[in-house]
Amino acid sequence: MEQRVMRAVQEGEVPIDGGTAVQQDPDRPVFRGNGAYDYVCVSCGNVLASAMDPEYMTRRVRVRCGRCRTVNISAEVPVTPARRPR
Ligand SMILES: [Zn+2]
Repeated sequence: MEQRVMRAVQEGEVPIDGGTAVQQDPDRPVFRGNGAYDYVCVSCGNVLASAMDPEYMTRRVRVRCGRCRTVNISAEVPVTPARRPR
């Protein structure tokens, strides 16, 4: 399975509806799908979501790593500032 590294959610990045999934067991991915990629933690490389398609890994999908506590989001999701520019 090809791996894609996620990125950390930035400080002040706008909270999106839907919570952050917490990985309870570091040895078990929070999500399992039938897609092409494993998504791994940016900090420690732990697998957070297994066999997922990129289309599913939207900004709603955030995972707190069970090993290092980093909150990860797909690296393809752009950083959204908390406030709109005036
Ligand atoms: Zn981690």
